[in-house]
Formats: sequence, C-alpha cells, structure tokens
Amino acid sequence: MLDLDETLYPRGNGVLERIDSRINAYLRDRIGIPAAEVDAVRRELRDAHGTTLCGLERRHRVDVDEYLAHVHHVDLSDLLAPAPELGALLGRLPLRKVVFTNAPRFHADQVLRLLDVADAFESVLALEDFGYRPKPDPDAYHAVLGRIGAESGRCVFVDDTRRNVVAAHRHGMRAVWITGERRDDPEVHHVIEALDELEELLGVRRDASLE
Ligand SMILES: [Mg+2]
Repeated sequence: MLDLDETLYPRGNGVLERIDSRINAYLRDRIGIPAAEVDAVRRELRDAHGTTLCGLERRHRVDVDEYLAHVHHVDLSDLLAPAPELGALLGRLPLRKVVFTNAPRFHADQVLRLLDVADAFESVLALEDFGYRPKPDPDAYHAVLGRIGAESGRCVFVDDTRRNVVAAHRHGMRAVWITGERRDDPEVHHVIEALDELEELLGVRRDASLE
C-alpha cells in the first residue's frame, strides 16, 4: 500500500503548499484567526488533537466535509502531469496495489487522474474510508486492512512521513520510508530515495506472499 502526496510525486512540487495556503485561508477567513497567529494555532491544534482537522472539529465545531471541500476543491492541473514512468513501474510491481492516504477522496482522485495512474491501483483508501482518523492512528491501519482483506504481515507500506512508516512497522507491515536521502533508521525496514528502488527491493526478494 502506498501513500499519495509526496510519495507518488516529488516533494515540494507545490501541491501541498497550495493546500497549506488554503488551510491558512480557511482559519483566517472562516474562523477569524488573525493571519499572524494562524501558524501557531495550527501547530497547537495539531499537538493537542493529533491533526489540524481534529482540532478544528473539536475546538471550533468545524463541519468536516465543508472544511475538506473548501481546502481541497482546488485545481492542481498546473502542478501535476501524466507520469508514464510511474505507471509503468507500478505495473511491474508484482503485488496488489492500493493507495492509503490521509487526504480526502476528492483530492486523491484528482491527483491520480492528473498523474494518469488511477488504473494502476486496485483501490483508493482515503480519509473518509477510515472514519477521519488519519495515519498514524492505529485504527486507520486496522480499517484499511479490513477493507482490503489483507493481513498486516503480508503488506508492504510506503510513505514519505516517518511517523506513518514507524506506525506501519509496529503494525507488522514491511515498512518503507521514502525520503529523498540515504540514511539508516532502525524503526523502519527500508529507507529509499525514490520509488523505483521498490522494484529491486521487492524483485530481489521474490516474495510472492506480499501484498
Ligand atoms: Mg505523504
């Protein structure tokens, strides 16, 4: 199972920065938080409630669907283009493939459509599919494994966010951290710089029992 943002496309290409500015605009315009305090408020909500979304819901009674629509209904077509190499790579990986993303379905569908790799995945598990309790919440992993009918020990998990990978490791998955630089990390199984390393990583092992 693969994460979406900054896993299937390169880090810092502007997608998350655009979403980020929409979140800031929401806090400023809809909730009335002064622009100079938005960053600190977001940090505080994240620290106290796990995610900005949970904090907004609990502390500011924000309607989750309205918030997600406001933040994510934004055109990304100038930032993402068809990625035939990625599609070919995914096609060569001899495993079932699912997307497991903390983003809502609208965003996941847009990104996969713009990259032109939607057909490479058996299914897309988005925030709505695990009760808005995002990775690294253990419940999210439980829910996704139940949805795809797989045992954790038969899954490879790939994500660019270390805490999500560490949680997958604890959950019994083969945990792969994609992080643009070579390093050792005892709390994950593999650290890769780019997705194309997956082919060798999985192909060398020829482990047909993995999903
Ligand atoms: Mg990511």
